[in-house]
Amino acid sequence: MGEYTFETRLLHNKHKVDPATGAVCVPIQHASTFHQSDFDQFGKYDYGRSLNPTREALEDVIAELEGGAKGFAFSSGMAAISTAFLLLSAGDHIVITEDVYGGTFRMVTQVLTRFGIEHTFVDMTDINEVKQAIQPNTKAFYVETPSNPLMKVTDIKAISELAKEIEALTFVDNTFLTPALQKPLDLGADVVLHSATKFLSGHSDVVAGLAVVKDEDLAKRLGFLQNGFGAVLGVQDAWLVLRGLKTLHVRLEQSQKSAIKLAEFLDAHPLVEKVHYPALEHHPQYHVQKSQAAGPGAVLSFELANEDALRSFVSKVKIPVFAVSLGAVESILSYPAKMSHAAMPEAEREKRGIKNSLIRLSVGLENPDDLIKDFSEALQSIQQKELVLQQGESS
Ligand SMILES: *Cc1c(COP(=O)(O)O)cnc(C)c1O
Repeated sequence: MGEYTFETRLLHNKHKVDPATGAVCVPIQHASTFHQSDFDQFGKYDYGRSLNPTREALEDVIAELEGGAKGFAFSSGMAAISTAFLLLSAGDHIVITEDVYGGTFRMVTQVLTRFGIEHTFVDMTDINEVKQAIQPNTKAFYVETPSNPLMKVTDIKAISELAKEIEALTFVDNTFLTPALQKPLDLGADVVLHSATKFLSGHSDVVAGLAVVKDEDLAKRLGFLQNGFGAVLGVQDAWLVLRGLKTLHVRLEQSQKSAIKLAEFLDAHPLVEKVHYPALEHHPQYHVQKSQAAGPGAVLSFELANEDALRSFVSKVKIPVFAVSLGAVESILSYPAKMSHAAMPEAEREKRGIKNSLIRLSVGLENPDDLIKDFSEALQSIQQKELVLQQGESS
C-alpha cells in the first residue's frame, strides 16, 4: 500500500477489512488465551499479553504509518517511553532534551537514576551543547520536537547522525506532530514514541502509548521488553485508537490551519508578550522545522505579562477547556507550570523558560474565528482590569 498517500493509507491499509467476515473495522478480540491444537508447537496467538489480534492491528498500522519495522502498543504514553528506556542498562548515559515532557523528566530523574542510568539535560537545538554532553557511556539521545511547552525544534537528522557515530540510539517523542507531519525514522531515528492519548486518537477518550522501531533486531528487543514488562494496551482502547487514526489527517490539517490563524492573532496582540510556534518566521528554528516536517502542528504556547494576567485570561476565556492534555477535537488550554510540568521543580522550570506566565494551547476543531473572538474578549478584560487598577493607584 506504499504507493498511496498518507491520508489514503490511514483507511486503506492491511486492516481495511476483517478477512474472516469482511467487517470494515477491526474486531475486538477479548480472549486472554487461545486454544493450542498442537502439544509441541503453539499457534501465532497463545496469551493476550504476548500478542492479541486487535492490539496487533494497531501495531501494524502505526508501524506502516511511521515507516518502521514494527509497532508496539502500550497502556499509556509513559508506559511506551518507560519500556523503551528498558533498552538501556545500568551504567548507561542518556543525553536528553531539557524541556522534555514532565512525566519523562520524572522517569529519568527519579526512577532511572535508581537503576544506575545517568542523564544530561541539554538544549537540543544547540548541536555543540549536545556534543559536549556526550560521555564514553552515552547510549541514547532522547529528542522531543517540537518540545513541550516551548515548541523548540531539534534537528532530528543531525542528532541521529551524531548518535550513529558513537553507536547510540536516537529516541524521538513524535506526539506533537504524528507521522502525518513528521517521520523521525526516515530522518535517521531508531525509536519513535507516542502518547496516542493525544492527536492519534484525538477525542480525549482514551489513554494509550505507541512505539515504533526501525530495525528488526531492535524490534525483537523491544518486543521482548513489552511482553516482559507487560504494560500492554487493552483491546477496547486499541480499537479506539484505530478509530481515531482514520480521521487523523483531516483533524490535524484543520487544527493546524486554525493554529496558524490563532498564532498570528496572538503574535500581533499588544498584551501577548511572546508566542512560541514554529510556523512564525521569528521562531528560532523556523527553517529546521520547515525542512524536517510537513507542518508546524496544532500546539502553541504564549506568554502574558505575568501570572495574574494569565489567571484573569483563563478565568474569562469560554471556549477551550482548561485541562491537562492536548491533541483533541476540543481546544485545550493547559498551564504547564501546574500541569504537564508540575513534576519539575520551579527552579528547573524557570531555568528552562517555562514561566508562570506561560500557557499552552492545543487547537481543536472549533471555527478559528470563534476562538479568536473569545480570546480577544478575554484579553480585553485583562486590559480593563489593569486600567481599573491604575486608576485606583492614581486616585
Ligand atoms: C502526554 C504526553 C506524554 C505521556 O503520555 P501519556 O499517554 O499521558 O502517558 C509523553 N510525551 C508527550 C509529548 C506528551 O504530550
